[in-house]
Amino acid sequence: MIAAALVCMSWAFMPPAAAAANASAEVHAAAAPADYFSYPLPTWQPHCLGFGSQWRLCNGTVLRRCSATGAIWLHTGVDITTGIQPVAAAANGVIAGYTVDPTFKGGMLIRHNTAQGVVLTQYWHVWPRRGFGVGAVVTRGQVFADVADMGSRTHLHFGVYIGNFTATSWRGALPPGACDGFPAFPNRFVNPNEFMQAHLQPQASPSPFCHRAGS
Ligand SMILES: [Zn+2]
Repeated sequence: MIAAALVCMSWAFMPPAAAAANASAEVHAAAAPADYFSYPLPTWQPHCLGFGSQWRLCNGTVLRRCSATGAIWLHTGVDITTGIQPVAAAANGVIAGYTVDPTFKGGMLIRHNTAQGVVLTQYWHVWPRRGFGVGAVVTRGQVFADVADMGSRTHLHFGVYIGNFTATSWRGALPPGACDGFPAFPNRFVNPNEFMQAHLQPQASPSPFCHRAGS
Protein backbone atom coordinates (compact mmCIF):
# COMPACT_ATOMS: atom_id res chain seq x y z
CA MET A 1 0.00 0.00 0.00
CA ILE A 2 2.70 2.49 1.01
CA ALA A 3 5.04 1.46 -1.79
CA ALA A 4 2.29 1.79 -4.35
CA ALA A 5 1.41 5.24 -3.08
CA LEU A 6 5.01 6.43 -3.31
CA VAL A 7 5.36 5.19 -6.87
CA CYS A 8 2.16 6.78 -8.03
CA MET A 9 2.97 10.08 -6.34
CA SER A 10 6.25 10.40 -8.17
CA TRP A 11 4.36 9.76 -11.37
CA ALA A 12 1.68 12.27 -10.52
CA PHE A 13 4.25 15.02 -9.92
CA MET A 14 6.16 14.52 -13.15
CA PRO A 15 6.06 17.81 -15.06
CA PRO A 16 3.81 17.67 -18.11
CA ALA A 17 5.70 16.79 -21.29
CA ALA A 18 4.02 19.76 -22.95
CA ALA A 19 6.00 22.17 -20.77
CA ALA A 20 9.33 20.97 -22.12
CA ALA A 21 8.06 20.92 -25.70
CA ASN A 22 6.72 24.49 -25.54
CA ALA A 23 9.95 25.81 -24.07
CA SER A 24 11.98 24.90 -27.12
CA ALA A 25 9.97 27.37 -29.19
CA GLU A 26 11.10 30.30 -27.04
CA VAL A 27 14.06 32.47 -27.88
CA HIS A 28 15.94 31.62 -24.71
CA ALA A 29 16.34 27.90 -25.24
CA ALA A 30 18.97 27.71 -22.50
CA ALA A 31 16.43 28.38 -19.77
CA ALA A 32 14.73 25.33 -18.32
CA PRO A 33 10.92 25.34 -18.27
CA ALA A 34 9.39 26.87 -15.17
CA ASP A 35 7.37 23.98 -13.80
CA TYR A 36 7.00 25.41 -10.32
CA PHE A 37 7.46 28.71 -8.53
CA SER A 38 8.76 29.45 -5.04
CA TYR A 39 8.83 32.61 -2.92
CA PRO A 40 11.89 34.81 -3.54
CA LEU A 41 12.38 35.45 0.19
CA PRO A 42 12.42 32.95 3.08
CA THR A 43 9.56 34.79 4.81
CA TRP A 44 6.55 36.40 3.13
CA GLN A 45 5.05 38.97 5.47
CA PRO A 46 3.06 41.82 3.89
CA HIS A 47 4.45 45.34 4.03
CA CYS A 48 2.13 48.35 3.60
CA LEU A 49 0.71 47.64 0.11
CA GLY A 50 -1.00 44.60 -1.40
CA PHE A 51 -2.19 43.92 -4.96
CA GLY A 52 -4.68 46.63 -5.92
CA SER A 53 -3.93 48.87 -2.94
CA GLN A 54 -3.89 52.60 -3.59
CA TRP A 55 -0.30 53.54 -4.38
CA ARG A 56 0.80 55.31 -1.20
CA LEU A 57 3.73 55.33 1.15
CA CYS A 58 3.15 53.67 4.51
CA ASN A 59 2.37 57.09 6.00
CA GLY A 60 -0.46 57.56 3.51
CA THR A 61 1.29 59.92 1.10
CA VAL A 62 -0.11 59.36 -2.40
CA LEU A 63 2.60 58.47 -4.93
CA ARG A 64 0.72 59.15 -8.15
CA ARG A 65 -2.64 60.37 -9.44
CA CYS A 66 -4.20 60.79 -12.89
CA SER A 67 -3.59 64.38 -13.90
CA ALA A 68 -7.15 65.11 -15.08
CA THR A 69 -9.27 63.16 -12.58
CA GLY A 70 -7.02 62.95 -9.53
CA ALA A 71 -7.65 59.18 -9.38
CA ILE A 72 -5.01 57.45 -7.26
CA TRP A 73 -2.97 54.78 -9.03
CA LEU A 74 -3.23 51.16 -7.87
CA HIS A 75 -0.37 48.88 -6.83
CA THR A 76 0.38 46.09 -9.33
CA GLY A 77 2.39 43.87 -6.98
CA VAL A 78 2.77 42.95 -3.34
CA ASP A 79 5.19 44.67 -0.96
CA ILE A 80 6.97 42.30 1.39
CA THR A 81 8.55 43.13 4.73
CA THR A 82 12.27 42.37 4.68
CA GLY A 83 15.67 43.52 5.74
CA ILE A 84 18.60 43.66 3.36
CA GLN A 85 18.99 40.02 2.35
CA PRO A 86 19.43 37.77 -0.72
CA VAL A 87 16.60 37.54 -3.28
CA ALA A 88 16.02 34.24 -5.10
CA ALA A 89 14.54 33.64 -8.54
CA ALA A 90 10.89 32.60 -8.25
CA ALA A 91 11.29 29.99 -11.00
CA ASN A 92 13.62 28.85 -13.78
CA GLY A 93 14.06 31.57 -16.37
CA VAL A 94 16.18 34.30 -17.92
CA ILE A 95 16.81 37.80 -16.61
CA ALA A 96 14.86 39.91 -19.08
CA GLY A 97 15.37 43.42 -17.75
CA TYR A 98 17.27 45.61 -15.33
CA THR A 99 16.65 49.29 -14.73
CA VAL A 100 17.60 51.81 -12.07
CA ASP A 101 15.26 54.45 -10.71
CA PRO A 102 16.63 57.23 -8.49
CA THR A 103 13.80 56.75 -5.99
CA PHE A 104 13.01 53.06 -6.25
CA LYS A 105 16.57 51.71 -6.81
CA GLY A 106 16.97 48.65 -9.02
CA GLY A 107 14.14 46.88 -10.83
CA MET A 108 14.59 43.43 -12.38
CA LEU A 109 12.40 41.20 -14.55
CA ILE A 110 12.77 37.44 -15.03
CA ARG A 111 11.09 35.71 -17.99
CA HIS A 112 9.72 32.22 -17.35
CA ASN A 113 8.49 29.69 -19.89
CA THR A 114 5.58 27.90 -18.25
CA ALA A 115 3.21 25.28 -19.64
CA GLN A 116 0.63 28.09 -19.85
CA GLY A 117 2.93 30.51 -21.66
CA VAL A 118 5.39 33.26 -20.81
CA VAL A 119 5.27 34.84 -17.36
CA LEU A 120 7.45 37.70 -16.06
CA THR A 121 8.27 38.06 -12.38
CA GLN A 122 9.10 41.60 -11.31
CA TYR A 123 11.41 42.56 -8.44
CA TRP A 124 11.76 46.19 -7.35
CA HIS A 125 14.15 47.72 -4.82
CA VAL A 126 16.90 45.16 -5.48
CA TRP A 127 20.48 45.20 -6.74
CA PRO A 128 21.65 42.40 -9.05
CA ARG A 129 24.54 40.22 -7.94
CA ARG A 130 27.66 40.03 -10.08
CA GLY A 131 27.07 37.86 -13.15
CA PHE A 132 23.29 38.34 -13.15
CA GLY A 133 22.82 40.84 -15.94
CA VAL A 134 20.19 40.77 -18.66
CA GLY A 135 20.33 37.42 -20.48
CA ALA A 136 21.64 35.44 -17.51
CA VAL A 137 19.91 32.11 -16.97
CA VAL A 138 18.57 31.48 -13.46
CA THR A 139 17.07 28.48 -11.75
CA ARG A 140 14.29 28.43 -9.17
CA GLY A 141 15.66 29.39 -5.77
CA GLN A 142 18.96 30.77 -7.13
CA VAL A 143 20.08 34.00 -5.47
CA PHE A 144 20.46 36.67 -8.17
CA ALA A 145 20.05 39.93 -6.24
CA ASP A 146 19.93 41.56 -2.83
CA VAL A 147 17.30 43.81 -1.30
CA ALA A 148 18.34 47.45 -1.68
CA ASP A 149 18.78 49.72 1.32
CA MET A 150 15.89 52.20 1.40
CA GLY A 151 16.25 53.03 5.05
CA SER A 152 12.97 52.82 6.96
CA ARG A 153 11.19 52.15 3.63
CA THR A 154 13.23 49.03 2.81
CA HIS A 155 11.00 46.29 1.36
CA LEU A 156 10.70 43.99 -1.65
CA HIS A 157 8.11 44.72 -4.33
CA PHE A 158 7.16 41.51 -6.19
CA GLY A 159 4.88 41.43 -9.22
CA VAL A 160 3.67 38.80 -11.70
CA TYR A 161 2.95 39.86 -15.30
CA ILE A 162 1.36 37.39 -17.72
CA GLY A 163 2.99 37.61 -21.15
CA ASN A 164 6.11 38.90 -22.83
CA PHE A 165 7.86 42.16 -22.01
CA THR A 166 6.19 45.47 -22.76
CA ALA A 167 6.89 48.92 -21.34
CA THR A 168 4.03 48.28 -18.89
CA SER A 169 5.91 45.28 -17.44
CA TRP A 170 8.03 47.70 -15.40
CA ARG A 171 5.12 49.43 -13.72
CA GLY A 172 4.71 49.10 -9.98
CA ALA A 173 1.31 50.77 -10.22
CA LEU A 174 -1.28 51.64 -12.89
CA PRO A 175 -4.24 54.02 -12.93
CA PRO A 176 -7.72 52.66 -12.07
CA GLY A 177 -8.86 53.81 -15.52
CA ALA A 178 -6.57 54.55 -18.48
CA CYS A 179 -5.03 58.00 -18.10
CA ASP A 180 -1.96 60.01 -19.04
CA GLY A 181 -1.00 57.41 -21.63
CA PHE A 182 -1.02 54.45 -19.23
CA PRO A 183 -3.41 51.47 -19.43
CA ALA A 184 -5.87 50.68 -16.65
CA PHE A 185 -4.99 48.45 -13.71
CA PRO A 186 -4.40 45.52 -13.67
CA ASN A 187 -3.49 45.29 -17.37
CA ARG A 188 -1.63 41.92 -17.48
CA PHE A 189 -0.61 41.87 -13.81
CA VAL A 190 -2.18 39.24 -11.58
CA ASN A 191 -2.33 38.90 -7.81
CA PRO A 192 1.16 37.57 -6.99
CA ASN A 193 0.05 35.75 -3.85
CA GLU A 194 -2.70 33.92 -5.71
CA PHE A 195 -0.32 33.10 -8.57
CA MET A 196 2.32 31.73 -6.20
CA GLN A 197 -0.20 29.62 -4.28
CA ALA A 198 -1.36 28.11 -7.58
CA HIS A 199 2.18 27.36 -8.79
CA LEU A 200 4.04 26.08 -5.73
CA GLN A 201 5.52 22.62 -6.00
CA PRO A 202 2.88 20.21 -4.65
CA GLN A 203 3.61 18.68 -1.27
CA ALA A 204 3.58 14.90 -1.00
CA SER A 205 -0.01 14.09 -0.10
CA PRO A 206 -2.66 11.64 -1.26
CA SER A 207 -3.77 12.42 -4.79
CA PRO A 208 -6.76 11.18 -6.77
CA PHE A 209 -4.27 10.06 -9.43
CA CYS A 210 -2.76 7.61 -6.96
CA HIS A 211 -5.79 5.38 -6.80
CA ARG A 212 -5.90 4.99 -10.55
CA ALA A 213 -2.15 4.66 -11.04
CA GLY A 214 -1.73 2.18 -8.20
CA SER A 215 -4.61 -0.09 -9.09
ZN1 LIG B 1 5.41 48.05 -4.21
